[in-house]
Amino acid sequence: MSELQTELLEWYFANARVLPWRDREAGTRDPYRTWLSETLLQQTQISRGSVYYTAFLEVFPTVQDLADAPLEAVLKLWEGAGYYARARNLHAAARVIAQHGFPTTLEGWRALPGVGRYTAGAVLSLSRNAPLPVVDGNVRRVLARLLVEPDPTETWLWVQAEQLIDSSQPGAWNEAMIELGATVCMPRKPRCASCPINSHCAAFHAARVDQIPAPKPRVAVKQIHAVALLITDGARVYLEQRALTGLLGGLHGVPLEVVASTRDDALAALLERYGLAATGEWVGKVAHTMTHRQFQLEVYHLTSSTALPLESPQHVALSKLDAKVLALSKLEALF
Ligand code: SF4
Repeated sequence: MSELQTELLEWYFANARVLPWRDREAGTRDPYRTWLSETLLQQTQISRGSVYYTAFLEVFPTVQDLADAPLEAVLKLWEGAGYYARARNLHAAARVIAQHGFPTTLEGWRALPGVGRYTAGAVLSLSRNAPLPVVDGNVRRVLARLLVEPDPTETWLWVQAEQLIDSSQPGAWNEAMIELGATVCMPRKPRCASCPINSHCAAFHAARVDQIPAPKPRVAVKQIHAVALLITDGARVYLEQRALTGLLGGLHGVPLEVVASTRDDALAALLERYGLAATGEWVGKVAHTMTHRQFQLEVYHLTSSTALPLESPQHVALSKLDAKVLALSKLEALF
């Protein structure tokens, strides 16, 4: 082991945060739990991810339990965590694993829905001690600074991560790199003075830490204007399940129509689609940002006198966008 590896691992073993999916006493980790935590943490902060992780294991303690559940139950549990494709893929992959067992190779894991090189490497290094690196945002930042590379490419990052990995303890090494990036080598104001590997860090020695890595170009936020219909009888609401492959796929939500020309045209098209004659009462606006989309919804309320099936919103999985729309309805079931 190099000096750098020894120093980082010693620091990690002494300072790693206690998290529900870390079980060093067991020596190896259950692949199901590791996969679940890695999937959850990809787009969710650790504190929130811990809550979802615990709730998931309570309801679905094994991969077989997850595979046996209907997708709706998985989405309901994922409600509020966002990036719902993760939940759909987790469920689809669990069904494959329940039939064929957990993969034991990088290729096997990557063949599962929603599993990329990061997740495959994380699960195999942590649960099977496979000498496979991981690169996430934290590792990217640490490597870029350690080696003074302001604009690291994906290829460069994976090559460096492969060369640096401690193959005797790959799982601990990967976690140590991530932990360092999350708690010491942060994007702003990194704690270089107390960093366990500062003597090896080229950016630190060159006094260029604040320039590396260079900021990524901002992705433009797409504005989406739409009208939404709240069709209620005072206690229940009309909700439809969104297409599995689209945005918020598989979740339930209120009918929406994107404004292509005018708001009145969009509302008329929406009413026509559901065979509704009344125009509805405007009840408010909802603004919501999702990844690179910003929604502005104009919400209209209709008291249902149609054959549309109404239901209690508590029994289905809703996105935060739809929860905000429903909050305008003052449905008793929500309060
Ligand atoms: S010395 Fe500073 S920039 Fe270098 S790895 Fe440590 S925290 Fe990051």
